[in-house]
Amino acid sequence: MAILSPDLIYRDGSFQAGLAIEYSVGSGSIVRIIPTDQAGADAVRLRGRALLPGFVNAHSHAFQRLIRGRTQWRRGGDWEEDFWSWREAMYAAALGIGPDDVFAVARHCFMEMLLAGYTTVGEFHYLHRDSAGARYANANELAERVIEAAEDVGIRIRLLDVAYASGGIGEPLRPEQRRFATPVLERYLADVDVLAGEVAGRPLVTVGVAPHSIRAVPADWLAPLHAFACERHMPFHIHASEQRAEVTACEAAYGRRPVELLADRGVLDARSTVVHATHVTEHEVSLLGAGGATICACPTTERDLGDGFLEAEALLSQGATIALGSDSQTVIDPLEEMRLVEYHERLRKMRRVILAGRQPRTRVDVAPTLLAMATAAGARSLHIAAGALEPGSVADFVAVDLDHPAFAGWTADSLGALLALCAPPDVITDVWVGGVQRVSERRHQAQREAAAAFREVGRRLA
Ligand SMILES: [Zn+2]
Repeated sequence: MAILSPDLIYRDGSFQAGLAIEYSVGSGSIVRIIPTDQAGADAVRLRGRALLPGFVNAHSHAFQRLIRGRTQWRRGGDWEEDFWSWREAMYAAALGIGPDDVFAVARHCFMEMLLAGYTTVGEFHYLHRDSAGARYANANELAERVIEAAEDVGIRIRLLDVAYASGGIGEPLRPEQRRFATPVLERYLADVDVLAGEVAGRPLVTVGVAPHSIRAVPADWLAPLHAFACERHMPFHIHASEQRAEVTACEAAYGRRPVELLADRGVLDARSTVVHATHVTEHEVSLLGAGGATICACPTTERDLGDGFLEAEALLSQGATIALGSDSQTVIDPLEEMRLVEYHERLRKMRRVILAGRQPRTRVDVAPTLLAMATAAGARSLHIAAGALEPGSVADFVAVDLDHPAFAGWTADSLGALLALCAPPDVITDVWVGGVQRVSERRHQAQREAAAAFREVGRRLA
């Protein structure tokens, strides 16, 4: 058993003093929350620190970290850069890396996540084949390298293994998509089962099911993939409605919009996470809410790619849950993701404090809504007992520095807002995953080495 005794812990939507957390290093879980005066002499006193549940990154493509900063230019002439032209650069990077590179890039990316306070990642993994498009002798070669990278730096991972069979609705895969191919449904499912068997008993690792999008799998795959996820108690994730062109193509092929198609096929429920949903109608918002689905917003990526805005207020009011993801890794910072969901709504609607919800007679702060997106909602999306400092939850914590200049003048009432809406990323000082401290005083043990290996891959790709 071990005990952490910070100045404050974040619980039930507020920062509370006088409490310590007892957790088991063996099981990696929280055992109980106790009054500080019962913590005893062996407790680790975290002076000047507040402790929160670790942040959950519900949607990531680790290898895309490789093209950060490399797509911020415009080619000559009248050409307009957009999501689709960015995708060409992403495809080129995907074709240029081998298994060791995949490991090195993912390892650095996951380490960067830990430094930013993410303790769990939902890795939406669609690199399956070798650069010629052939299956590896071990079909899960690259998934395993990504998982090893996560274990190496100590982040919890839900490997969302991606089904990818078409280059667009009813279209063959394009040559540059050859590494993603899972053309046979049964074989894909068998590969997921093998992978799940391999990770069984590894404390940081679980597996999930993820049709890439309604562009990349036939609609007839959706129900069997969802049924498979149900049978194995796995989450079900899919990209949908990120770009208008996808909506138009879906309407042309199926006579309905992407979220309507998902609802028709019976795959929109509490097991499901719809990633992006930046182009949805009122009807689709009500379908997402009624199904109890999670929407994973990735606002730093969506602003980078010019995807559009999330209907966050409408989604929450209809009962949907919003989680957050770093997606393309253009920024890795849970604080930035959570505040953008609120700030984008303010800019669109020219109002303030939009996602706080309403109570008839009492004040409602917005910070708990945003912090829940970055913690409990992500845990719900990935089906992991994380996101809350409660007995039985995983011992995944982040400590923030109450003496940081950005917090000067904090009060118990303002601290949540200072963190969720104002603070720079370096307020996060220490990070634990499964009770093991992985970041100490803003440093990760593998930082120098991971950066050197990452630089080497980047240099070769240039
Ligand atoms: Zn994505």
